[in-house]
Amino acid sequence: MSRPDEPPLHPATIATHAGSDPFAQHGAVNPPVYHASTLLFPTVAALEAAALDRFGDFRYGRLGTPTTRALERAIAQIEGGHCAVNVPSGLAAVAIALLACVNAGEHVLMTDSAYGPSREFCRRTLRRFGVETTFYDPLIGAGIASLIRPNTRVVYVESPGSLTFEVQDVPAIAAAAHAAGAVVIMDNTWATPIFFRPFERGADIVVHAATKYIAGHSDAMLGLIIANAANADRVRLLWADFGAAAGPDDVYLGLRGLRTLHTRMQRHYANALEVAQWLARRPEVAEVVYPALPGARGHALWKRDFTGASGLFTIVLKPAPKSAIDAMLDGMRLFRMGYSWGGFESLILPIDPRRGRVASDWQPAGPCLRLHVGQEDPADLVADLHQGFIRLAQRGSTGDSA
Ligand SMILES: *Cc1c(COP(=O)(O)O)cnc(C)c1O
Repeated sequence: MSRPDEPPLHPATIATHAGSDPFAQHGAVNPPVYHASTLLFPTVAALEAAALDRFGDFRYGRLGTPTTRALERAIAQIEGGHCAVNVPSGLAAVAIALLACVNAGEHVLMTDSAYGPSREFCRRTLRRFGVETTFYDPLIGAGIASLIRPNTRVVYVESPGSLTFEVQDVPAIAAAAHAAGAVVIMDNTWATPIFFRPFERGADIVVHAATKYIAGHSDAMLGLIIANAANADRVRLLWADFGAAAGPDDVYLGLRGLRTLHTRMQRHYANALEVAQWLARRPEVAEVVYPALPGARGHALWKRDFTGASGLFTIVLKPAPKSAIDAMLDGMRLFRMGYSWGGFESLILPIDPRRGRVASDWQPAGPCLRLHVGQEDPADLVADLHQGFIRLAQRGSTGDSA
């Protein structure tokens, strides 16, 4: 997409054009959705040539079609990595990236604030294969050096953390990891490459739950792994061994979502900031855990390393009976309850941020709610929350207890 004499492009421009090859498909702007298992070869010579390079020509549906390659090229270019592979979910991306990097007898350091199922994968499955995981305090920064052992192969970061949104000092952690010869894997699902640039901050491998913002419409399950040049082969080989390719329709939805990622993220950011600022002034709210909010935990580091924030954050309420919170949530008009996030719609979920934690204490002052602020008009979202707080107060004052 660029010649040496041309200036580098900004992420929004890359997201609009990357991976696209219209004249290979009769001028159509988007690639067709190839539903393909068998790919035919016209001659023995072509068959033999394709067998030589698994990641080169198209050989078999599982290993790639023009649809999957378009998405992989696009995300690799947007993240600034060497190559990418597609997998059927974000969790598959996490698991395959980890497996690509470790051998039996080796050691993983994983942030205690990582997505719960990522932690489970280490605790349950990696362990069965003789890989030990130590969970570390997400705010450890350069102090990670003291936890690195001679057999530590991976330092895993996710910033901000799931549920609790700790902003990690990724450059400091990566410097310590690299000094010890370990690989840094980063889950960049929350910020997306629009707002955080992992490879520029020391990551070697980036994973995405593309299910979330990249697909962006709550209608696909998709994961992506992007590797730098040094880690490209180990990621692609493990991915090929696993046979974990996403379905063509979900791959297409991921590629389609990428084209509007920049616009949608700006809207999520603006809306979430407005809703967060309103929440921070409410008497029912003890704390808004959103690093983009001035004065919030992690704000300084967020400001240093991020260029924006997504629509996902947590609020800590002042102590209230469960029945009052249930009444608030059951009656919401726009904020709906359900897992996942990153679609166009707003979501709200009661959460327990302490669950599964082993290396860091997170003691909220009251019940916690995780909000995903969608693309609605923020005035309507604020009105919905306002009505919710009225239900909370009414039920809270009737005197029933949790
Ligand atoms: C949702 C999520 C995942 C897993 O993605 P799925 O597509 O649901 O498997 C991984 N990491 C983070 C940070 C997530 O939020």
